[in-house]
Amino acid sequence: MNKKSDKVPDSKGHFGQYGGRFVPETLMPALIELEKAYRKYRKNKDFLQELKILQKDFVGRPTPLYFAGNLSEYLGGPKIYLKREDLCHTGAHKINNAIAQALLARRMGKTRLIAETGAGQHGVATATGAALAGLECEIYMGSEDIRRQALNVFRMKLLGAKVTEVTLGSKTLKDAINEALRDWTTNVRNTHYVLGTVFGPHPYPVMVRDFQSIIGIEAREQIMKAENRLPDCLIACVGGGSNSIGLFHAFLKDNIRMIGVEAGGHGIKSGKHAARFAGGSLGIFQGCKSYLLQDRDGNVLGTHSVSAGLDYASVGPEHCYLRDLRKIEYTYATDREALRAFELLSKIEGIIPALESAHAITEAVKVASSMNKKSIIIVNLSGRGDKDVQEVARIKGIRL
Ligand SMILES: *Cc1c(COP(=O)(O)O)cnc(C)c1O
Repeated sequence: MNKKSDKVPDSKGHFGQYGGRFVPETLMPALIELEKAYRKYRKNKDFLQELKILQKDFVGRPTPLYFAGNLSEYLGGPKIYLKREDLCHTGAHKINNAIAQALLARRMGKTRLIAETGAGQHGVATATGAALAGLECEIYMGSEDIRRQALNVFRMKLLGAKVTEVTLGSKTLKDAINEALRDWTTNVRNTHYVLGTVFGPHPYPVMVRDFQSIIGIEAREQIMKAENRLPDCLIACVGGGSNSIGLFHAFLKDNIRMIGVEAGGHGIKSGKHAARFAGGSLGIFQGCKSYLLQDRDGNVLGTHSVSAGLDYASVGPEHCYLRDLRKIEYTYATDREALRAFELLSKIEGIIPALESAHAITEAVKVASSMNKKSIIIVNLSGRGDKDVQEVARIKGIRL
């Protein structure tokens, strides 16, 4: 098992047949420079110490592992614990990765951060990291998303970032990623590209996973302290896959059921969803080989989800690999189910979850009915729902 050839990912970033580095020649030097820097600093005492202090005093880590007593009682089954990433500074787990990459960029001598953003969450996290690290910041965002997310656009500007409108293609996330990659190619000398999830060309999937794995490391310690044993089941939503792998990673060697929940949108048959494992196939997209929603000719399909953070055509390569190994199961929750869970958790626990996280809550409600009272589930509450209340009101036909 310990043969070098079995190392995952391998030196080129392959998780089995997935992952890799499918980019134009012009981007290779930037990726190789980043990979070298990451390899160096992930073991560097000063870097790790600086990161640790900021995780504690800036992000607010460790986030609590909260026993959701009301929800557990309401469901009448297992004990449900919530890993409270919603209590992170800026409201979600994305900051864990963004500040780590900002610190890394500064150590690499970069003076400028760029990033793409869809709903604006990753843009806000990156702008926050840039402000903290004293770096310039430019965020690429599709004009369609700029229109829908005016509040986050203003937040980024307050944080000192320049927000650049992308008017190409579908004017959404994937077009913003293309523009950010183009910028990086041109400005690689002084610029670092902060990718927001466990996707894209190597080393991003493994680097972002490592920066998010703090979630599971803490949860493991916390559940041992609270229950003196490991949980029976872990549940998290899967957009690109960073909050889920962040929780799961510290438990991969244990025999624990793990469930990733994708966005089922209006249902798989409707074609309006982002359930890559339920409706996708193997393809190459934005630097990475993975499951992808595409037509027969390989054109990337449009996606839909009520939660912007899950609304993406592909998924991190390590997820494909772990799915093949049957380490992680993947399912989906529809918009309607997620909205129901959004309201349930708000009312019953006094916690308004992000719509993304509400997908994970949906699955907890589903599996609870087949588990006994002694079982333990940990659900990753990836973010808070403040950003979603307006949209939920709109869907319910309530005028604010
Ligand atoms: C962005 C986001 C997600 C999805 O991204 P992952 O990389 O799959 O974690 C989930 N929840 C929240 C709150 C988000 O902002």
